[in-house]
Amino acid sequence: MVKKSFFILLLVGILVSCSYKQYPTQITTTKTVHDTVFVRLPSLPIVPPATTNPIDSLLYDAHTASTPNFNLRKPNFVIIHHTAQDSCGQTFYTFSLTRTQVSAHYVICRDGTLRHLLNDYLRAWHAGNSKWGNITDINSCSVGIELDNNGKEPFSGQQINTLLTLLDTLKKSYGIPASNFIGHSDIAPRRKDDPSVYFPWKLLAEKGFGLWQDSIPPSLQVDSTFKPMEALRIIGYNTHDSTAAIIAFKRHFMQVDSSKTLNEWDIKTLYNLYKKYL
Ligand SMILES: [Zn+2]
Repeated sequence: MVKKSFFILLLVGILVSCSYKQYPTQITTTKTVHDTVFVRLPSLPIVPPATTNPIDSLLYDAHTASTPNFNLRKPNFVIIHHTAQDSCGQTFYTFSLTRTQVSAHYVICRDGTLRHLLNDYLRAWHAGNSKWGNITDINSCSVGIELDNNGKEPFSGQQINTLLTLLDTLKKSYGIPASNFIGHSDIAPRRKDDPSVYFPWKLLAEKGFGLWQDSIPPSLQVDSTFKPMEALRIIGYNTHDSTAAIIAFKRHFMQVDSSKTLNEWDIKTLYNLYKKYL
């Protein structure tokens, strides 16, 4: 009798666990030729409000109330990377391995080919330990784009053209502000140097993706109360390591990779930019 009850309980347990659907319900996955996992959400899932979802800050209990008014959160930042690898095939292989713990939403190859790896609404693992302003979980609010480039070479015209088209789509789809198109090096200045000084930030800003300095007259006088490190922090840089923040700023806006200090011209540029971010 005890044995029979045990099997009945086991059967009930299996049925309950199989019928439990974890949110979101409409994600399907397929494998590509590169073994890269593509995840598609054909439309925003219409799912009933969860009342038993254990993945939450507080468990639902008897005092739970519900609402049908919700959808998935959308990206508000775009983070641009270079892969630091020699080919797209190498990158797809890296992203296909569980142990690497890295991914991105998009990869753009040297010939301009675009690959969409993850739905924009899902959280890719591209930013790592990063900070921009007060945001410390950049993966949760951004789309990550990887450009196939080893970090020591210019980016191809086809690649940048594809990137501009993609950025235009993302900006329009999610209403992303121009200032929120930034690089991995900007959000992780101590750890990352991508995209390299070859990346055409000025061209991107002219198209509405990222900010760029005005042409600055040599006669420009910087306010005597101006504090460069405070300006870097207001722009968004993590100034905990001031040297790393300066290097990242100069890599992006002065397009040099070797200087650890701000000269007079850098300070004028920073002054001009900081006013745009205020
Ligand atoms: Zn990166």
